Order: sequence, then structure tokens, then C-alpha cells
Amino acid sequence: MSALPDTGSSGLEAFTRLVGRLPEPVLACSAEGEVLASNPATAALLAKVQLTDVRLVLPTGHHELVRACLQHGEAVQDAEARAGARTLAWTYVPAASDGEAGPAVHVFGRDVTDSRQTEAALRISEARHRLLAEQSTDIISRHTPGTWTFLYASPAATTLLGYRPEELVGVSSLDLFHPDDRRTYKERAPTVAYERGIYVGTYRYRHKDGHYVWLESTSRTLRDPGSGELLEIISVSRDVSRRVLAERATRRLARIVEATTDLVVFFDGSGRITYLNEAALRTLTLPATGNRPLRLRELMPPAAYARVESEGLATARATGTWSGETAFIDAKGRELPVSQVILSHPDEGDGIEYFSTVVRDMSERRHAEELVQRHQHEMAHVARLITLGEMASGLAHELNQPLAAIVNYARGAIRRMEATPPAEAEVIKGALERIAQQASRAGEIIRRLRGFARKSEFQRLPIDVNAVVREMLRFCLPEARRHGVHLAAELAPHLPTVLADRVQIEQVLLNLLRNAMEAAPGDASGGIASPVLVRSDLTAEGCVAVHVIDCGPGLPSTDPEQLFEQFYTTKPKGLGLGLSISRSIMEAHGGQLWADDNPEGGAIFSFTLPAAPASATPGI
Ligand code: ADP
Repeated sequence: MSALPDTGSSGLEAFTRLVGRLPEPVLACSAEGEVLASNPATAALLAKVQLTDVRLVLPTGHHELVRACLQHGEAVQDAEARAGARTLAWTYVPAASDGEAGPAVHVFGRDVTDSRQTEAALRISEARHRLLAEQSTDIISRHTPGTWTFLYASPAATTLLGYRPEELVGVSSLDLFHPDDRRTYKERAPTVAYERGIYVGTYRYRHKDGHYVWLESTSRTLRDPGSGELLEIISVSRDVSRRVLAERATRRLARIVEATTDLVVFFDGSGRITYLNEAALRTLTLPATGNRPLRLRELMPPAAYARVESEGLATARATGTWSGETAFIDAKGRELPVSQVILSHPDEGDGIEYFSTVVRDMSERRHAEELVQRHQHEMAHVARLITLGEMASGLAHELNQPLAAIVNYARGAIRRMEATPPAEAEVIKGALERIAQQASRAGEIIRRLRGFARKSEFQRLPIDVNAVVREMLRFCLPEARRHGVHLAAELAPHLPTVLADRVQIEQVLLNLLRNAMEAAPGDASGGIASPVLVRSDLTAEGCVAVHVIDCGPGLPSTDPEQLFEQFYTTKPKGLGLGLSISRSIMEAHGGQLWADDNPEGGAIFSFTLPAAPASATPGI
């Protein structure tokens, strides 16, 4: 196609000169829209789209566009027209010519195929993003830097925070934060949000109805590529309330597991321990950070572990739980009786992920049970004693009569002998006097016993301790012989009297002498008898002291004081009350009773009694 028809017009000539080399198509049109001339680029375009008539590549409203352009005297921009597969944008500009012959309008074409395609693609992508944002269950939002004011919020804002998106636009996120989180954010935000570009934070947002929702926001800063200026912040916020609450619940549970006094142990199917709580470490005296993995079998005695393995784990696997009484051993090898519960924790599939066991140390309880048992044992003893007391009281009543009769007969016999003395009158009289004396003493003891049963007060009179010792030694002679024991005394002369209940002091002495005789290695066959020595003396404090010394097995090495505990006895028929009662008697008298080891082997039981005040007169 010829480039330009030669019209001879000066306007067209000027046009030709002007646009001849332009790469885009340019036309010169008359006021009626007739194409008067075109540049070579127009011809090239027509060739490219395989058309011959330039009118086919102009906008459909070409004539109206020319008219509008002339009417308003200004350019009409970017009127689009299809040219085959291409898109052209034409701009109509009124020509600056004055003559009639010159063109009225210049029409500039531009191939916008590529940019239109790009724009269309952009529109699609934008629509896709919008759709994504609107479909998302997370809140997608845009914010101004600094105040975090919402520029946009996706519809999920309604579901998560109760606000319609348009209600949020213009509102600062910070105003929705929980006050504590606002503070935290303000401390952290400048460094993270503005410097590193991406920022993840978990905050409580106030829901429209007032409650708080935990949102985890991932934010990104958008900057001007040229200046680097911070333009806006884009955030994706997800509701993590359930996760946060679950985490808190887990943390709470973990704290409970840590703090409980029960032992909590986690282990896998092979018995390898993965966790021990504080109580387990403490009770089993294990170091907090062991350097090698422990196995459950190392913490249990073999028999207990065998039971857990065969019965416990099998049941827990099948039913989820097992409980039983087993035992653990601590690092020092001490065995602890325990009550144990095993739980199995299934994995995602059919298997068991791990086991946990809660173990209660029963040592204390066992100890308490033993105490209760001992107490019951003691109660049984007490019951026996009460019966014994009642029997004794009855017996005392019964015995009083014959004893009185003995005394009367003995006295009667003495009187008769005095009237008509036989040959050995003195010997018989002596014997009869002893009978009467002993019978009176027995009567006295019985009277006291009954008094004791009635809980009446005892009599305190000044007594000569040496005399009591001598009498008790005499009293014990037959028993000493039976035991093959030799009784001896080393009594200090001129001891002061003591203010005491004679029968009670006799009771104490009798008890000490009996214990000594029972402890002494006796020889009833008439061989060398082992001695039991009673010694009396005056202490530096002016008390009268009596020591009963034997050469028996001596005191127990661990805790000699236990001998004085009620019901402590090593004798098959013992009551274990003698020493405890004796000590109470001595203490009631202001004295003391204690035991020492005999340096020559055996034991020394001693008591002291304060001397009677000088005004007190000797009784017997
Ligand atoms: P019982 O004689 O009924 O056992 P006691 O209270 O008199 O009650 O004595 C308690 C225990 O103290 C005795 O069983 C014995 O084991 C121990 N005991 C008492 N006296 C001696 C002693 N002289 N030598 C060694 N052990 C003794």
C-alpha cells in the first residue's frame, strides 16, 4: 500500500514529514472521518494482520470519535479496536492545521495486545487472591505501619472476631489487643516488624462480644521497591485459642505431675525410661541428670519386675490399665513397697506409643500399719493385765482369810510354847515368828494390791533402803538357788533414810533382782554360781543409790533405752512392764532408774532416791 497519497496539501506534507518514521501507525483524517493519509507503520500493521483496508483496524465508532474530538477540541484517548489477533488503542487528536485541505484529525494507533493481556492476567490473579482471602478461615488483613490500623480485613473477621470487615477498617489492631499483650507487642514490635520483614506473634484479641480469642498472626511488611519506605503490613491471623488452651492445660498437667508426691515414670514398650518426675528422682535417690538411659527393670526388684512384665504390661496393653502392689528399689538398694498403676498410651495406629506408671510409696503406710498392729498387740497385753488385775484383786480377797489364819495359828503356837516351852523352843519360836512375819508381809502386799486396784494413794514413810535390800535378798534366796545364782550385797553403812512407799521400793528391787537372776548365766547343777551383786551408796548429790549388778548378756547395743518402753520384752512369758513401771515408781519418788553396761560383762541397773528431810523419823 502506498504510503501517502499525494494531495499536494501543505498540511499533509507536514504530516508526512512528521510521522513518516514513527514506529506506531498514524493516520490523517478529514472532519468526516475519511482517512486522508497514513504512515508506513500503518501499512506494516495491515500486512501483519493480513488486511488491506485501514478502516478494518479502526474502532467501530470511528466517525463519532472524530466528531467528538473536533467538537470538544481535545484528544479522545485509547479507543480500542481489534485487528486480527491484535488489540489496538487509537487516540484521536485534533489537527493543528488551519486550511480546508489539511487533515482535521490525527489518529495515533498503539498495539496494546501485550499490555491488555497482562492486565487481564492481573485481573484474574487479583480476583483469585480476593477469592482466596474471602474463602480463607484465617483473617487476611492489611494494616498501616505503626498503628496497625486495618486497611482491609477478610470476611473471616466476622467468624473469628464478630466484626464485619468494614467495621474493622480504620480501627487499630492494638485497640483490640488484650492490655497485657499490647504491652508485650509494643516492646517487641519495633525490632521484629520493621527490621526483619516477617513477624509471628500470638495475641489475645477482644471479640466483639467482649471475650478474648487467641490469634496467631503472621505479618509481612510491604516496602516501596525504590525508596524502601514501609508501605503497609499484610497479616494472616489464625484462631489458636484451642491450641493455646490445650497447651496451657498440658502445662498445668505437667506441673501437677511434677509436683505430685506420687512417683510418675514414662517408659516405652521395651521398658526404656523416658521421663521420671521430681518425686521419682527424690524417692529413688536418682541424680536429676543421669548420663545413661535407665530401664524400668533397674528400678524394681527382679520378682516385682517379672510380675509387671508378664502381668502388668500385658493387661495394660489389652485393657489400657493395670494396678497392683509391687516394689521399687532406690539407688542405695533399699526396697520400697508400692502400689502401682500402669497406663498404656496408644499411638495413631494399633500400637502402643508409651506406658506411664503412677507409683505410690507405701513404706509410710506399712509403717503405720505396723504401728497399729503393735498397738493392737499392746492393747491385748493391757486387756490381759486388766484381767490379771481383777484376778489379783479377787485372789487378794480370798488369800486374806488363810493368811490371817496362819498369823493367828502362829501367834497361838508361840503363846502356847511360851507357857510350856519344849526342848527346842527357841528354834521353833524363831521359825514361827518368821512365819507370822512373812504372813503379815504377804497380807500387807495384798492390802496394797487391793489398794492399787482401787487406785488409792500410797503411803510415804522414812525407810532404811539397806534394810529393804537385805529383806528382798532373803526373799529371793530360793529363786536364786533355782537359777544357780549367788546373791551378794555390798551395802554402804549409815545411809540416810529415804521418804518412800516401802512396798513399791520392794517391788522395784524385786523386779531388778529377778531380771538380773534371769539374765545371769545360771548353773543349777551346783557348779560355780554366777554372782548378782547389790550395792548401795550415797551419791555426790546426797541421794541413796542402789545398783543391781549382773554378769549376763548385758544391754542391747543399739538402743538400751528401749528396755524401759512399755511391753518391750525378750522373754517368752514376759510382760515387758517391770522396768517401765519401776522407772515410773522411781520418778514418782523424785528419783531415777537407769541401766549401764557392766565393764566386766553384764548389766548394772541403778536407782536413786533423795534422802528424807532431817525432820522425818525412821518408820520401821
Ligand atoms: P520382762 O522382764 O517382763 O521382759 P522388764 O520390763 O522387766 O519386762 O524387762 C524388759 C526387758 O529388758 C527384758 O525382756 C530383757 O530383755 C531386758 N532386761 C531386763 N533386765 C535385764 C538384764 N539385767 N540384763 C539384760 N537384759 C535385761
